[in-house]
Order: sequence, then structure tokens, then C-alpha cells
Amino acid sequence: MPRPTAPVTDTHCPYCALQCAMSLTRTAAVDGVAPRLPVDVAGRDFPTNRGGLCKKGWTSAELLARGDRLTTPLVRDATGELVETSWDAALDLVASTILRIRIERGADAIGVFGGGGLTNEKAYQLGKFARIAIGTSRIDYNGRFCMSSAAAAGNRAFGIDRGLPFPLEDLDGASTVLLLGSNVAETMPPFIGHLVGAQAAGGLIVVDPRRSATARLTETGRGLHVQPAPGTDLVLLLGLTHIVLAEGLADEAYLAERTTGLDGLRRSVSAWWPERVQSVTGVPAPVLRDVARRLAASDGTYILTGRGVEQHVDGTDTATAAINLALVLGLPGRPGSGYGTLTGQGNGQGGREHGQKCDQLPGYRKITDPEARRHVAEVWGVPVESIPGPGLPAVALLNRLGEPEGVHALLVHGSNVVVSAPNVQTIRDGLGRLELLVVCDFFLSETAALADVVLPTTQWAEEEGTMTSLEGRVIRRRRALDAPVGVRSELWIMHELARRLDAPGRFDLDPSIVFDELAAASAGGLADYSGLSHALLDTGLAAYWPFPAGSGGTPRLFTERFAHDDGLARIVPVRPAKVSESPETGEELTLTTGRLLEHYQSGTQTRRVPELDDARPEVFVQVHPATAARLGIVEGGLVELSNRRGALTVRARVDGDIRHDTVFLPFHYPGDASANLLTQDAVDPISGMPDFKRAVVRLRPAAGA
Ligand code: SF4
Repeated sequence: MPRPTAPVTDTHCPYCALQCAMSLTRTAAVDGVAPRLPVDVAGRDFPTNRGGLCKKGWTSAELLARGDRLTTPLVRDATGELVETSWDAALDLVASTILRIRIERGADAIGVFGGGGLTNEKAYQLGKFARIAIGTSRIDYNGRFCMSSAAAAGNRAFGIDRGLPFPLEDLDGASTVLLLGSNVAETMPPFIGHLVGAQAAGGLIVVDPRRSATARLTETGRGLHVQPAPGTDLVLLLGLTHIVLAEGLADEAYLAERTTGLDGLRRSVSAWWPERVQSVTGVPAPVLRDVARRLAASDGTYILTGRGVEQHVDGTDTATAAINLALVLGLPGRPGSGYGTLTGQGNGQGGREHGQKCDQLPGYRKITDPEARRHVAEVWGVPVESIPGPGLPAVALLNRLGEPEGVHALLVHGSNVVVSAPNVQTIRDGLGRLELLVVCDFFLSETAALADVVLPTTQWAEEEGTMTSLEGRVIRRRRALDAPVGVRSELWIMHELARRLDAPGRFDLDPSIVFDELAAASAGGLADYSGLSHALLDTGLAAYWPFPAGSGGTPRLFTERFAHDDGLARIVPVRPAKVSESPETGEELTLTTGRLLEHYQSGTQTRRVPELDDARPEVFVQVHPATAARLGIVEGGLVELSNRRGALTVRARVDGDIRHDTVFLPFHYPGDASANLLTQDAVDPISGMPDFKRAVVRLRPAAGA
């Protein structure tokens, strides 16, 4: 690859879905002394972040200078150690093992697990590689743990899933924002700039069992923090919808013109009067009425959901209940109002559009759709019957590792499943049963450390490509510096493996060519990129999909019609699911998990940034003072949390910012500190989303504490 010549490169942050714009300036030696970091990071003016970055973004150059960067392929030797090897030896081993297992057990004995941080080009190529180079249906990705419930709800209601169906800037004009289950003040701080108007108008309403940093924003003026019991959000939303309908606050004209299914909704919410909702959620009935009336009274109302309400066994139905409330109020598609869901991972939106999901083909098409299969087969240059059918969603894929009907070889790209998957000990045990575990990453993540083969890859500032932000805007990731010697891109790895597997079709190396193929494959689909190219994106065009050839893109969806054939939104009646576990004795509490400002996902990257790690070096459990006093737990003391899945010992943080019946663990920490040792792998039957946000645990002071 040629060296980049520009001293300043405009790109975007390596972390979350806000994809803040930044400029990277190559640093130079001073008096013969090499700079500690290869680039300086500066925030860049862009509509989403307006020059702002959070501390993760500001310190992201540290990732490029780590001494523990993987630069050589590793294989596990006869003594069980990972030792350095050549690229040819590593790829030959991977390809020959895949070929052997495919002959012995069939192609579905080989699994591929992708990530929501991969560029669009890599995500696209990975889906194609799995299906036509390996021939397996068994591909899914870590976005199953992130956006799958919201995506399923959006597809069901609107016929399309774009996290925010409007530009983020539209929120600037909001006077009322109902934010459910999202702590944006910590997860994506520049986002708060778009809530200032609603906050100033006293219209910011935050629903969270914790008094999070975002909930505290409601404490100025007339904002509201609503603190339901974990996992009762669906009942809360049914109650709000009941009030809107019962008090005549619904937008009847909108409902008649733009929706279908209202009668079923009326029946389904009729029994959820405010006092009954209070008994389930703990939210006082007058507060519920106040919230419903505020939402209806405002001209500029937005309803936004996050993982807090979606990561449940009834996550799809909870997101659907939020959409139903928005539809009853006449919000989606109306200027100055709307419904949206806040994508978390850097390419959480694009990652779910191009074929990494077990049931999808590029263009956000169903893999069972004959026309979609025909179109994609033509682009790939393969017979349509060679494209496998639907595979297994993430938990089903990962919970059967090494079992007779499960996969026996697993290729992991950009995911650290032994930290981030639910009930993680099951996954750890399964990885040990595999005949082959291959991990592509740029650091030796906890999953990579267990692999048979580790393939070192490029990272954000060393590669070209595209990402799609939480508002459905396709943006350019640009290379600011060369990757270390020995490192390869995933596109190169797939190219080389495909060649060794004698795969049909092309596996190009150049991301702009791969993008052109992706765009062609997406033509006519929901997420249509066919009018886009790297060159067009480089003009600075604000490219919101669908962007069919010859169009100018679609900043705002639903202004005229929804994506169902009849143009109407579907109101789908929903009801609370029977939860798989809930506290039954006074000794049991509800555990919920989440993120911290300083860390991102499994922490593989942020735990390697000194400034971030120093600020949050270890896991803690947040406990209410009354609960702590009852259980003999003190601030800073060691506490054992346990349930039937596992146990961990952590320090207590005792404060009043959480309900007395709930405890909170951040999920960024590995090994014996992993919150996911305790989380459930029960999944939403529609989306496959695990119930990360609700597990029963017992707490006690740790022995000797
Ligand atoms: Fe990066 Fe997200 Fe922080 Fe922006 S908010 S700087 S995209 S981590």
C-alpha cells in the first residue's frame, strides 16, 4: 500500500455509533526524538459531534502506539502455547482444517462470528465469505447482543430498520424527549448537545432504574427521571399508551391515515390503568399521567430507546410498545417529531445491513426471499442454490460449540465473545471443545488468547472503508498511517483463505471495489447503497440510506409513507412476557448491566489506554445504601455476587443512585470480573436478544472482607 501523503487525515472515531468526526495529524520527530504517538487527535466539525469528542475519542491515538499490538500470526503449538508463525503457515492451517471439517461434518460445522465494529466492506465480505467460500449458513455477529430487538421491532412496525430515521440534528428542535434505557451522557457524551433544547424547555424525560448521568440532566427545570423496576419497561409503555387513549390525547387523524391495527392495541392496553402499572413498575400513577400528558401536549416530541429496554426476553415487544406509543401520538414521519433507537457499536447500523446476520443478505434482504437470493447470487457470480439458507442467531450458535449438531470450527472477527456474550462460562466451555478457533484482531483479546490461530489485523486509522452511523449516514473511514509491518486487513485474509478454499466469486482487496460490489448487491433492497461510492462520499455528501442510484439519499424516512407495501405503519399489540427469572426472596436482587464513560464494549481497546484504565481500573457493583446496610455491605468493601450460573467478587460502590431492589455491574471487564458470568442466555424469541438487563443475584460481604 502507498504511504498516505497528507499530514492531516479526516476520519471518524474508532468507537461508538455516534462516529464523531476527527482529524488525525501525523506527528514528527523533535530534535531527533520520535513522537510517543503517531498522530494527534482533534475533534472536527460535523453535524453529530460539532467538534466535540469524549475522553475515549480524545485518547484514541493510544491504540496506535501500543507495544502489545499483534503483528505476527500466532498458532498454538504442541505444548499449548501460542507461538509466532508465518502468514502462509497460519492460513494453510486454517484452510486445511476448514476443508477437512467440511468433508467430515459438512459446511455447517464451521461457524463465522462477526462484529458491529467492522467496516461495511468487511461486514459485507464476511457474509459472502461464509456463504460461498465456506458454504456455511452458520454466520452471525455480536450485533445480535446489541440492536436485534430494536431492529426486529422497526422492521415489524415500519417495514424497515434504520436506528434514527431522521438526522440527529432534528433533535435540536425538540421540546420533549422521552429517552428510555439509554445513558448517552456516558456512552456518547457529544449526543447531549442535541438534548439541550428539550432540557431547557423542561421536556427531558429519562426512564432508567438508575439515576444515571443522563437521568441527572433532568434535575434542572421541569425534567423528569422515571425509575421503574428493571424489566418492567413494557408495562410502563402499555400504561402510557393506555392514558393517551383513555384521555383522548391520541392523534386520531394520523392513526386513521397512516396506521393499521389500532383496535387490537386498544384492547391490549385497556387493562393497564395507571394504578395497576404502578403496582408492577413502582412508578407512581400521577407521574405516569404527567408523562403521557407532556408527550401529547408538545409540538416537538421524540421517543428514543436504547439497550436498557431492548436487552430483554421481551425486548422486541418492548421496543414495539415504544413504537406503538409514538404512533398513537402521531410522531413518526411528522416534521419535528419522531421515534428512534440509539445504535451502540461503531458500525452497529451498517453491520446489520450487509449480510453478517444469520437470516440476511446484503441490502438488508431476507435470505429466504427468492428474488433477493437471485439478485445477490448474480452479483456474487454463483448459482442461487449455492447460497445457504438461514443459520443460527448468536446465542444458539455459540451455545452449541463442539456439540454434535453445533459448529466445530469458529472464525471470530472483531468480537471478544468470552467477555461480551451472556452466561459466558457456557461459551468459554464451548470454545474449549472446538477443533479450530481462529480469531482476527489487532490485540490479544481474551478470546484471541484462547484461539488455535490468531491473525493480526489493521485497525481504524490504518484502513480505508466506510461506516454507517446511528442516523443511517454512510461516512468514510480513512487511513492516516501505515499499519505495522506484518499486519494484514481482513479483506486480505478473506482473499487468501478464499483462494486456498478454491472459492467461487471474487474477494477483492481494495475497499473501494468491495464497496462498489456491496452497493450493487444492495440495489433494490431496504438498505440500498447503489448510488454511493467512496469517491462520492469523499465529496462530503451527507449520504443517508436508502440511496438508490440517481437519488439524493433519504435523510428522513416515513414523511409520506412507511416501508410496508401499503405504506402504513403496523400497530402490533404486545403483552409482557413471562420472565425467566425474578427475585423470589428478600435475599435476592435484580442485576442490571451497562457501560461506563471510560470504556467501550468488552474493554479490549479502552483497558489498554492508560488514561481510561487509570480512571476505571476495576469492576464494581453499585448498591443502594439501604440494601447495603441490610446486607452488611460497606463502601469499598468486597462483595460476592452469585447465582446459579456463576459468582464474582467485586468492590461495592454504595450510593442512592439506584433502586434498593437493583444492583448494577459494568460489563467491560474480563475473566473473573466479567458481569456476564451472571447474565442469562434466555433470549427474545423474535430477535434472539439475550436478557442482559435482568438477572437474579444474591449479595453478601465476601469472606474476609
Ligand atoms: Fe468516539 Fe463515541 Fe466518544 Fe464520539 S462519543 S468520541 S464516537 S466514543
